[in-house]
Amino acid sequence: MRKNIKNLKKKLKNYNPKIKEECGVFGISNSTDASTLVALGLHALQHRGQEGCGIVSFDGKKYHSEKRFGLVGDNFNKEGVLKNLPGNYAIGHNRYSTTGGTTIRNVQPFFADTNAGGIGVAHNGNLTNAINLRTKLVEDGAIFHTTSDTETIVQLIAKSKRNKTIDKVVDALFQIQGGYALVMLTQNTLIGVRDPFGIRPLVIGKLKNSYVFASETCALDIIGAKFIRDVENGEIVYIENDELKSIKPFPIKKTRPCVFEYIYFARPDSILNGKCAYEYRKNFGNELAKETNVEGDLIVPVPDSGNAAAIGYSQHVGKNFELGIIRNHYVGRTFIEPVQKIRSLGVKLKLNANKSSIKNKKIILVDDSLVRGTTSHKIVNMLYDAGAKEVHVRIASPEIKFPDFYGVDTPTKKELLAANKSNDEICKYINAKSLKFLSVDGMYRAMGFDKRNNTYPQLTDHYFTGEYPVKPIDNLGDDKVTQLSLLSTASNN
Ligand code: AMP
Repeated sequence: MRKNIKNLKKKLKNYNPKIKEECGVFGISNSTDASTLVALGLHALQHRGQEGCGIVSFDGKKYHSEKRFGLVGDNFNKEGVLKNLPGNYAIGHNRYSTTGGTTIRNVQPFFADTNAGGIGVAHNGNLTNAINLRTKLVEDGAIFHTTSDTETIVQLIAKSKRNKTIDKVVDALFQIQGGYALVMLTQNTLIGVRDPFGIRPLVIGKLKNSYVFASETCALDIIGAKFIRDVENGEIVYIENDELKSIKPFPIKKTRPCVFEYIYFARPDSILNGKCAYEYRKNFGNELAKETNVEGDLIVPVPDSGNAAAIGYSQHVGKNFELGIIRNHYVGRTFIEPVQKIRSLGVKLKLNANKSSIKNKKIILVDDSLVRGTTSHKIVNMLYDAGAKEVHVRIASPEIKFPDFYGVDTPTKKELLAANKSNDEICKYINAKSLKFLSVDGMYRAMGFDKRNNTYPQLTDHYFTGEYPVKPIDNLGDDKVTQLSLLSTASNN
């Protein structure tokens, strides 16, 4: 077994390590329009993944499944595949982009027939012990059809000796580790799960007689569902006979949601811990201005990720906020492009300088985060080319120095600029007049936590601190990451 894991890890080292697993999940019970509502919910969650999407429905007798590459609106419309998804129960999934080895088999939800009946599984997050579990399962004779860690969960559920599906799910969950939010569908039972630390998000909504589970509240708003509450960390909720039931089988842990949902991932209008993500981001900008302000004429956001922080910054310093960069909305997120060369081109395709507003101006350029530095590098040069006098870069989160293992695309340590370069070196690389980041204390202050009262760390913040709430068991070393979906680069089918 040890030898097999070693072999698998060795094999993985040769693959291009791109982590891309920040996905969106949605599920609904007891609705005559189940699959249409799932498609709408997935559309609202499109920012969480644009590579592929899928829906599984149950019509009382049979399950139906459709999966496609690309955007929800292009694939799941009235004339198209929605007709093939009858039934009052449905779940869906948006998948984040992956490397060249993209395969339709890795598009979720996954479906399997177990001895307790069918089960569909949609997963946002990443398991930190998937390679170990998968190796054991394969040694026991399991056959895997995909390269995703989600299939490990399905295999564990199918293998459980318990009778009821919900008990099989609990059995499986006790074996997996990592950051995950799951939405599952068995015959007339909708199940939602959040990992023991609540790293990945999941909310509960209600629409007439239907219950809804979704990654973010913006997906409830689009279908007119009322927000009930977050699924709690370590909680399994399920809808049985139209009733919401809840169990908490894991040892109780303090909730530690991922701070990157607040900084970047969640849509600005989604509610996180009682407040819109937009408000947190404005506060990050406000705090950033308090900590790092510099003489300048204009506050310019990197659209759209820096908009809210730049508004907060300009409100604090009382200077003009200007849209100095215009975004073409018909190009996906920069990160969609799998190779660095095309990714840099993506920034140009997407953004252009608003020349008349920036000419001869000292600009304070605000973005939410700096990962590889590609965006800042391109934009600073773009602003200088368009006649800016000075460009000062201000980042509304701390330096990202540590990779993620729980499902966010913050790459290997090697690719993280702040893990390898000093502030001065980064500043030089992006060609800015000055560069400053929000401090970790400032970030928590902006969120309403107070160090003196010992109310933090409350969140999963390893990006900045290196403190991981769940040990990455599959860790292949500093430089490599653990997601099985990486294998898709090599397997290609
Ligand atoms: P970079 O250009 O590599 O420094 O990345 C920073 C830009 O990408 C910022 O504008 C962020 O809004 C955005 N970003 C940060 N984290 C992620 C992520 N995990 N996935 C996609 N985009 C991201």
